[in-house]
Amino acid sequence: MKKTITLLFSLVVATVQAQNADSVAIRSIYNETLAHGKSYEWLRHLTKQIGPRLSGSTGAQKAVDWTKQLMEQQGFDRVFLQEVMVPHWVRGAKEEAYFRIGSKKTTVPIAALGGSVATSPKGVEAGVIEVKSFPELRALGAEKVKGKIVFFNRPMDPTKINTFEAYSGAVEQRANGATEAAKLGAVGAIVRSMASNADDSPHTGGMRYATGVPLIPTAAVSTNGADLLSKSLKENPGLTFYFKQNCESLPDAKSYNVVGELRGSEKPDEIIVVGGHLDSWDLAEGAHDDGSGCVQAIEVLRVMKALGYKPKRTIRAVMFMNEENGLRGGVKYADLAKQNNEKHIAAVESDNGGFTPRGFGIVGTPAQRAKVDPWKPLLAPYGLAEIGAGSGGADIGPLAQLGTVLFGFKPDSQRYFDYHHASVDTFETVSKRELELGAASMAALVYLLDTHGL
Ligand SMILES: [Zn+2]
Repeated sequence: MKKTITLLFSLVVATVQAQNADSVAIRSIYNETLAHGKSYEWLRHLTKQIGPRLSGSTGAQKAVDWTKQLMEQQGFDRVFLQEVMVPHWVRGAKEEAYFRIGSKKTTVPIAALGGSVATSPKGVEAGVIEVKSFPELRALGAEKVKGKIVFFNRPMDPTKINTFEAYSGAVEQRANGATEAAKLGAVGAIVRSMASNADDSPHTGGMRYATGVPLIPTAAVSTNGADLLSKSLKENPGLTFYFKQNCESLPDAKSYNVVGELRGSEKPDEIIVVGGHLDSWDLAEGAHDDGSGCVQAIEVLRVMKALGYKPKRTIRAVMFMNEENGLRGGVKYADLAKQNNEKHIAAVESDNGGFTPRGFGIVGTPAQRAKVDPWKPLLAPYGLAEIGAGSGGADIGPLAQLGTVLFGFKPDSQRYFDYHHASVDTFETVSKRELELGAASMAALVYLLDTHGL
């Protein structure tokens, strides 16, 4: 009995000592990041000097070159590229749109959706059918829809507390609206921007055509524009909508994921990934989406080096290419990991904006999630209260097939969809402090994953 008690006591002591060591290490991670952080100035360069970085663009190539050079300058153990072929869609000349009542034309801000075809050079003009859902559209049938422009106008649900839930509930209109409309003979599809605020900036985003269905042009309308169009339609159901867009899909282009690595000292064959996606929509600087995630990931490795921390496992910062309109970089990364028989124990992605940290979503088995439980008290003092089952991230998603546990960095979500995929996603909207708190949160988690494994 006495022996058991002594054993129990020493176990408790060992646990407390480990927790103390962890809490000191995490404190020093935050100190380094908040007092000497580099991520904000890196983000300034990525957004202001390089700017938009859609797959296949010169901006994307510059971002590849620059992040590679940046990680080399940090003295990481290894920096390398992974070649990947990516879609190359270009917007062309700026779109035009208006609705016409009699001879009166009212301009509407629109942006072609990524992957859309162009209109004819003269544009397309037709009557408008407004719907809130696919079932509502189907109930109208081909008779009412043929030859018309379908206007998908279901807003993101403002009663959802997490705006990503509201986004998920509305985004099918953007992704598949053109296909659903074309099945019934529509000549165009316009969609209310996936945005939580009322503004005049159209928010673009990816869309897909289904095989065997005519390819019709499709665009996002600003939320204010959508409200005005909807109101005008009620007063004048016979109004017509005109839009012209000049976008085009070019042949696939060669691009790269960029990877920087600190090699593990004890278990170099166990890899922990921390990353974001380097590509961004053509309309914006891509500050929150996802310049923030990229510079935070590089900062995680910089902070570890600055603290003289020698990781047990290999830690990689990965700049994924082509999240926005193809996910080719994320798929390529996982394919190569499989081919090379690499063991990825965990992957952390930041792709929800550079806002105040709230926690991490976890994709893993209940047993794997339970291993994270003892870390919660260590992270709670830093505002990381929401840690549990959730979503990881698009780019790291393909790693799940290899048994990798995924962690999605969760910042406050309230302002993300004010900026997402629109020209207003600029450097000025990112707070240095919030960005750095995010980087420190990710570094703290990576430290725990490295020290304790999963
Ligand atoms: Zn993103």
